[in-house]
Amino acid sequence: MDHRCPHCERDLARRRLSQPIIARMEIECRYCKRRLKVNVHRAEEALIFATLGGFLLCAGLGYALDRQGLYAAAFVVALLGAGALPLAEHVWLRTWPRYVPIEPPSVRDFPT
Ligand SMILES: [Zn+2]
Repeated sequence: MDHRCPHCERDLARRRLSQPIIARMEIECRYCKRRLKVNVHRAEEALIFATLGGFLLCAGLGYALDRQGLYAAAFVVALLGAGALPLAEHVWLRTWPRYVPIEPPSVRDFPT
């Protein structure tokens, strides 16, 4: 995963942990102060929704059928999903840009 700012090329990787992926889709580069969009890959999206769906399905079935084992399965699904996301970043999304500029370059330099 490429965590560099598309404007100034500084590495923003350390920011990752304090940044919730879904809650906040925009960040500000701490070096050049330009606003960036968090660029979520389709595979990440699929993984997040699959994890969430699997968790809700197991938890829901556990509740409906009154089966304790399904609650445990729900937590296993959540743990697997949480573990698979960083793995996917390192293996398949090695060169995927994490941040993209919000405004197109032509607009950025246009005098206002
Ligand atoms: Zn920057």
